[in-house]
Amino acid sequence: MPRSFCTKCQQPADFITIRQAVDLTGVSRSTMYYWMKKGWIHWTVMPSGRRLICRDSLFQAPRSLTDVLVEASEVLSRYKAS
Ligand SMILES: [Zn+2]
Repeated sequence: MPRSFCTKCQQPADFITIRQAVDLTGVSRSTMYYWMKKGWIHWTVMPSGRRLICRDSLFQAPRSLTDVLVEASEVLSRYKAS
């Protein structure tokens, strides 16, 4: 687990992969990307192009009604597709 300075936290933080973040929070991968897009969690791009997530920010992310609705619409679209 690489530890580097998080510019958003303004302090050193543990950075984990998206996969690890998904396992840790139990949300879907697309919700994780949604949080990233919204800027609710901190993330950084490695020189290799790999994105890593600030572990601390995961526990500050709001689990709002919007998330539930996003999850619900995904489940629904999957249901319709099958
Ligand atoms: Zn951070």
